[in-house]
Amino acid sequence: KIKVVADAAVDPEFGSGVVKVTPAHDPVAWEIGRRHNLEVKQVIGLDGRLNEKTGRYQGLTVKEARRKVVEDLQKAELLEKVDENYKHAVAVCYRCKSIIEPLPMEQWFVKVAPLVEKSLDAMDKGEVKFTAKRFDKIARHWYANLYDWNISRQIVWGIRIPAWRCEKCREWTVTAGEVPEKCAACSGTNLVQDEDTFDTWFSSSQWPYATLMSSKSEVIGKKSGGKKGKQLSDFEYFYPTSVMETAYDIIPFWVIRMIMLGLYETGKVPFREVLIHGLVRDKEGKKISKSKGNVIDPLVMVERYGADALRMGIVWGAKVENDIALSEENIRGQRNFANKIWNIARFVLMNESGSNKFQVTNNNLKESEDDRWILKELEATVKKVTKSLDTYRLNEAIEELYKFVWHRFADVYLEKTKARRAEALPMLRLILKESLKLLHPFMPFVTEAIWEELGEKEMLISSSWPKA
Ligand SMILES: [Zn+2]
Ligand SMILES: [Zn+2]
Repeated sequence: KIKVVADAAVDPEFGSGVVKVTPAHDPVAWEIGRRHNLEVKQVIGLDGRLNEKTGRYQGLTVKEARRKVVEDLQKAELLEKVDENYKHAVAVCYRCKSIIEPLPMEQWFVKVAPLVEKSLDAMDKGEVKFTAKRFDKIARHWYANLYDWNISRQIVWGIRIPAWRCEKCREWTVTAGEVPEKCAACSGTNLVQDEDTFDTWFSSSQWPYATLMSSKSEVIGKKSGGKKGKQLSDFEYFYPTSVMETAYDIIPFWVIRMIMLGLYETGKVPFREVLIHGLVRDKEGKKISKSKGNVIDPLVMVERYGADALRMGIVWGAKVENDIALSEENIRGQRNFANKIWNIARFVLMNESGSNKFQVTNNNLKESEDDRWILKELEATVKKVTKSLDTYRLNEAIEELYKFVWHRFADVYLEKTKARRAEALPMLRLILKESLKLLHPFMPFVTEAIWEELGEKEMLISSSWPKA
């Protein structure tokens, strides 16, 4: 005897309009089973074979059993027809493509509703915002449709779940990580830790506060309320951080969950602003893939043109929050730019070694008309670059810098100083140094190396940003 139920999940127009459900081995059937209180009978074991509930099919793999059932139905002349053209969508393993058979198993879940409510509230209040409106919308959409979060995984790589099962009463004792001495329910002492590990997103979503809270070092000199204030820990000083920069495909897995867990654990959002970058595509805007043969291997590019050139090539022409069109020509062009900066530095150093050492002070800066011009250009560049960085228009910042360094500083100003070498040296050095500071976020290696060549004692990375 088989129980027959009517359920809206089944399309009466499709096939015979009747479908067999196995709540233990299919998510849709599971839901139907829940609606009609059907018994959950697990017939597939963890070994992928049919179990003792399946009679003569016991011990067969799922695939073998399917064939055998069809055979038996045919023998009994109970099979009307087999649709050989029917396409079935089944879940497969992401690595080996084996078909996945769902099994009912005990798992750990996080109830998301209260966390979602807090997160949406924080977004509404502007405590955390997405730079682009469209990603704000995507985040809200995910929050609105979030299922309770299954945080346990049956893999060994990951943080083991700090839950111990009592062998006596079968209850769980959960801790913050320390091994419990006894069962929280019955005080029994025979406890076995769960072998499951956390979902990697559950672990990584705690990154913003976990890293800062566990850091031993304290930020030197960061005090609240002036010199007499108390020394702040890294967490107190840096949390919430200012900007979270990541890719849009992990908004649902990572970004919205960092906000949820940050609010839960600290009462504060983990960051103030979310900036999303696009995918790196080829120069025609096509997705990069091995099969298309349009792969631009970053390690090969670094080997060929240097890391700074690759970095510049990625930012060049790329509007933030849009996909990036990357090409080798572009990276090569940026290598040429890096060479140009080296050449400027060499010119300055060569001339300096040929004359008396100059120390730039306001007193010996004899300003010619050219000097005043390049200073004005520098000031305008500092303003534009700073503003572009503040508004995340990184591409505009480097295009501005490129124009200034190559076409104004090198092509015009530097050329003109050849007629008055010694006199112009302090200004040359000053403009070069300010240019290096502005270029440093985009070309950290070349600029730091030149900075050292210039004999600067403090590292470029810790020098202050030029003020306009
Ligand atoms: Zn597999
Ligand atoms: Zn117990």
